[in-house]
Amino acid sequence: MDKIKITNLEIFARHGVMPEETTLGQKFIITAELFLDTEKAGHSDKLDDSINYALVCDNIKSYNKTNTKKLIEAAAEGTAENILLSFPKVKSVRLELKKPNPPIHLHFDSIAVEITRSRHRAFVAFGSNMGDRQAYINGALEKIKSDPKCTVKKISSVTETAPYGGVEQDNFLNGVVELETLYSPYALLDFLHKLENEAGRERKIRWGPRTLDLDILLFDDIISDDPVLTLPHPDMENRAFVLEPLCEIAPELIHPALNKKMKALRANL
Ligand code: ADP
Ligand code: MG
Repeated sequence: MDKIKITNLEIFARHGVMPEETTLGQKFIITAELFLDTEKAGHSDKLDDSINYALVCDNIKSYNKTNTKKLIEAAAEGTAENILLSFPKVKSVRLELKKPNPPIHLHFDSIAVEITRSRHRAFVAFGSNMGDRQAYINGALEKIKSDPKCTVKKISSVTETAPYGGVEQDNFLNGVVELETLYSPYALLDFLHKLENEAGRERKIRWGPRTLDLDILLFDDIISDDPVLTLPHPDMENRAFVLEPLCEIAPELIHPALNKKMKALRANL
């Protein structure tokens, strides 16, 4: 992908573990590679079609002036996140944050951390079959919308479905939401678990009744068989209550493990 590269931007900040670092402050040097599509701007020659790198430099400088972290890891994390939050055209950022003069009495050039952070596309299934089902779903969707690290792209309609998995219980309301998110896969799972807990979710029986269930169906094209987070969500291709709402918002989406479009999987049900 195309990129705009800001090399060795000098800033002054108070990041550090040692007391003199936080009181006196010191120089830091930042290199940021901003991945975006520059082709449109390349043809139009208009700044509006690209990002203003002077503003990105100001953004980096002001973030590091107003936020003080003990670790350069945390300073880099916050700086990268702030760039992605402030410049929607940037799809991904590789950021190096260097401390040229760390307070260590040994000779070396500098200490640095380098990270890459990106926007991701995720599809989350939501379901409820206890209490005020619609209220639990609406509450979760509102919390997702107001989280700065999530942007809701599309929401399917909510439909009533019969329970799945053989446990005798009430009908579900189900749907799917498409997100753009700055969370990593596991961080998104933690966030969704927090929302389930806030909805009073109790885990008593597997596949049993629940106030709120939030499952990650797909996260970019990641394939993983980790039981903590299996991607794509196991068995999604056999569940009408997943494929129907998913096809409503993303029929052309390809299941990365089965290599089939969602509309084809639904037709196979
Ligand atoms: P289920 O959704 O299967 O009915 P739970 O909501 O209780 O059951 O989830 C059980 C566990 O499944 C969670 O603790 C979670 O770590 C794990 N899990 C694995 N893959 C996923 C996924 N893609 N989305 C959500 N949870 C997942
Ligand atoms: Mg679940």
